Amino acid sequence: MGTLNGKAALVTGSSRGIGRGIAVRLAQDGARVAVHYGRNEAAAKETVAAIEAGGGQAFAIGAELGVDGDAERLFAAYDEHADSLDILVNNAGRTMKKPLEDLSREDFRSVFALNVEAPFFVAKEALKRMRDGGRIINISSFVARVAFPASVAYPSTKAAVDNFTRSLAKGLGPRGITVNAVAPGYTQTDMVDAVLADPEARASAEAASAFNRLGTVEEVADVVAFVASDAARWVTGQVIEASGGVQL
Ligand code: NDP
Repeated sequence: MGTLNGKAALVTGSSRGIGRGIAVRLAQDGARVAVHYGRNEAAAKETVAAIEAGGGQAFAIGAELGVDGDAERLFAAYDEHADSLDILVNNAGRTMKKPLEDLSREDFRSVFALNVEAPFFVAKEALKRMRDGGRIINISSFVARVAFPASVAYPSTKAAVDNFTRSLAKGLGPRGITVNAVAPGYTQTDMVDAVLADPEARASAEAASAFNRLGTVEEVADVVAFVASDAARWVTGQVIEASGGVQL
């Protein structure tokens, strides 16, 4: 029997990358998983098929995040498939590699809209459906604690996510809901392929880890699964790095 049997989970941005790894892992542990996608319905359906092939339960729902009405549309789709929620993973996000001098207002707003505004309002809608004892897990990044002059806006979004995590955790204690952030290091996904297209940049990202390599989505998903489980019931308001000891 899985540790999450009978639980309902929603993982934003689980059509690909880290989110897909998390959705697959939570389903392996017994949760019924809502696989959310932005644009890539076919990839979300592949995630659902992978879960079902492993004997798990999942369904796909689409909604663009980082735009007005996003959380309401996401949950309108969710409500067609499920009537309560136990685990929310705010994973959908994007990077932006621009120093301040190249950053426009539009760039700034778009990365904050997806990485910060969406998790706030998705959590707000989620809490209307979440059972006591639930879990909110925000996917942050190690960059929140590191100086990154070449991409000033993105690390700032993740620092905002970290404080949101702490503030929400304090408020939700009385309901037995834990709120934590899991902060990956460089992890092998499409996002990293785009950012580390240059072999030198990739080698330097690998060297930044204590293990001299990029992480896998499974290595992040395992930590999320722990935080989602009953074993982590006394852990709340924390940022837990699953980063291979990057930039120690
Ligand atoms: P990917 O680019 O591989 O996947 C992003 C996911 O988010 C996709 O499922 C995508 O859906 C969804 N998404 C993107 N934009 C939107 C949008 N506007 N509306 C709705 N959904 C959207 O990213 P990763 O897996 O690499 O990253 C996942 C999370 O992990 C992010 O929050 C990222 O900041 C964080 N992270 C990643 C690291 C890494 O090294 N990869 C390191 C540290 C943190 P679709 O394709 O369907 O549009």
